[in-house]
Order: sequence, then C-alpha cells, then structure tokens
Amino acid sequence: MSFFDEIGRYRLSDLSAEVLNKSEREVDAALAKSRNDEQLDLGDFMALISPKASPYISDMAVLAQKYTRRRFGNTVNMYVPLYLTNSCSNQCRYCGFAVNNKFRRRILNAEETRIECEAIRKMGYENILIVSGENAQRCGMDYFREMVPVVGEYASYMMMEVQPMDTDEYAELRRLGVDAVMVYQETYDPECYDRNHLRGRKKDMRYRMETPERLGDAGMDKVGIGALLGLYDWRADTVALAMHLMYMRKHYWQTRMSLSFPRLRPAAGGFEPEYPIGDRDLIQTICAWRLFDNMLEISISTRENARFRDVITPIAITSISAASSTQPGGYAVDRHDLPQFIISDDRSVKEVTDALRLNGLEPVFRDTRSSIVCQA
Ligand code: SF4
Repeated sequence: MSFFDEIGRYRLSDLSAEVLNKSEREVDAALAKSRNDEQLDLGDFMALISPKASPYISDMAVLAQKYTRRRFGNTVNMYVPLYLTNSCSNQCRYCGFAVNNKFRRRILNAEETRIECEAIRKMGYENILIVSGENAQRCGMDYFREMVPVVGEYASYMMMEVQPMDTDEYAELRRLGVDAVMVYQETYDPECYDRNHLRGRKKDMRYRMETPERLGDAGMDKVGIGALLGLYDWRADTVALAMHLMYMRKHYWQTRMSLSFPRLRPAAGGFEPEYPIGDRDLIQTICAWRLFDNMLEISISTRENARFRDVITPIAITSISAASSTQPGGYAVDRHDLPQFIISDDRSVKEVTDALRLNGLEPVFRDTRSSIVCQA
C-alpha cells in the first residue's frame, strides 16, 4: 500500500480536530518524554503543535536546540538554488511561474548553465539545488541529461527540485551525480489540492504523492518532503506530513529525509494565502518537528525574512540558502523577470554567514553529507 492509499483512509479535517482537542496534560506528557530522550509518537507530535502547547514554546525551543546541536554539531549547511528555467506547463494558483502568467520564459542552455555555475562558485557555494518549473516536454530527462553533468562539475552535493519523474529516470539521475531530490506535496487534502492545481501533470495527486517512494526505490541518498503552509489548514497538513515521514522512515529506512517549510507568499496574479500561519505558530511547529524526529534535516529558504531566520536557525535548522535568485540566469546577469515568489531575506551571503557566526554556528559550503556528527 502506497502512502497515497494510506492517507486516503483519513479525513484531514479529522486530523486537525484531533490536534485542536489535545489537552495540557498531553502536552506535559510529550515534553516529559522529550526531556527523557524518549521517542515521541504521532499523538505526542499532535499535542506539541496544538494550541495547548503554545505557552510552552520556550521549553520546546530549548529542547529542540539541544537535540539539533547534539545531532548536527554547530554547523549549518549553505545551499543555493540554481533556476534552470521558469518555463512550466502547470497552472498552480499560487505560483508566479504558472503557465497562464504572461512573461518571457527562459530555458538555460549548457553554456548559460555553466556561466551561472561559475557565478555560484564565486559566491562560495558547492551545495547546489537545481530548480526548474515543470515542463516535461521541453525540460525533461533529455534536458537534464545535458545539464546535470555541467552542474556536477561545480557541485560537491547536487540536489534537484523539478517535476516528479519515474523510478528509472531517478536511477539515471543518481548515476549522473544527483544526491537528493525535493518534492513538496503542497497539500494532502484532495479537494484543496484539486482546487489549487488547475491544469497540467501536477493535477495527478497520486503520482506526486508517490514520488518519494519512487526516489527511495531508485536509491536516492536524500529525499526532501514538505507542504506549502497556508494553502490548507496547516495543522492538518502538518500531521499528514508527519505520517508521510513515518511511512518513509519505515519503508525506506536507508534514505535520509529532509523537510522544508515553504510558507505561502503573495505571488503574481494577486494570489494571497487562504490559511496564513503566523511566526509564533511556525516556530512552535518547527520545534515540534525537531522533538519528534531528532535526525531530520530541516532547511529554510529566503522566503522567510532575516529576523525569522536568525531566530529559528540556531534552534532547529540544518541548512539555509542566502542571496538566492529565482530567475534563470539570475546570478551571472542581473535580471528582473517575474519571480516565482517574493524573496523576504535579501541579505548577502556574507551578511547571513556573519549572523550565523554571531550565533556560534559555522556555515558549511561543501558536502552536506558530513553535517551529521552523531547518529546515536
Ligand atoms: S508551483 Fe511549480 S508546477 Fe506549479 S506553476 Fe509553479 S513552477 Fe509550475
């Protein structure tokens, strides 16, 4: 049974109601387990993201920081997104790259990709996240077969965030040097998913949700999952995401897992998030994740503002980006095309790494595989 079948047995609104019904006693019990280094279960996690846990956010942050430092040392991996194209054949209501938005699309060729990689290397980065819109016809496996080896010359750890693909394609990408693939489910609620994905391959919710399993089957080193917070009731999606993580841990125990918390930002077309999540709730949720799964790699992008990132990074984050561009060609040439989303933290790499060091953290620019200092 795939995770799509498993989550299909639940109604997300019931999961949310269960979270809202959690008692202070259940929060106390979850925190006591965490203090005693005991493994939390899903019920504990639900208690920690519930409103009843809100007064305990400081306690949760202290515990989360302890676990983060114990597992990952005083290091934070630095990665940079490399946008190969803003061409996309899907129509997602919340995204500036949606096919219905009229602007000039760009697909980097091998030479332009190399120029971008040179610019990225000058910024100091070796952990590169290849990003593209989802246009399988023009930027499918043939295109990646040409681009991935170019990026591989400049990357010590290569990640991808592109359209979901088949198992044999992922196996080939792995052979070409790709280490990790991120694929975010956006929302686990079928009705909300359908309402926000209007056109294109992405409408196939099952194919997208089963992508992490295909990645596990293909032997990918790391798989990143996440939900787009703000699209649906964030507590319901967070519980579904936890169940997805548990499923992957059980069936693909040799695959490293990472999590991201893309929080919906306003986008071209006048889109505004329907279910916004506030800073305090997001911090509480990230702390709950760390207490739930000590080994989990957690990244945070420049969607979030500088102040928020400076607060949460020492507590629970293992990798961050800085000075990101969401434009194809955005590092080598100053371009001002339509962005995928609005960047909130526009500090330079130096400003971000200075802030990390002020917090006693060491930025690491190469090979995230060395980030885990203790597996015990
Ligand atoms: S979210 Fe992804 S798939 Fe949807 S329109 Fe944007 S780039 Fe395309």
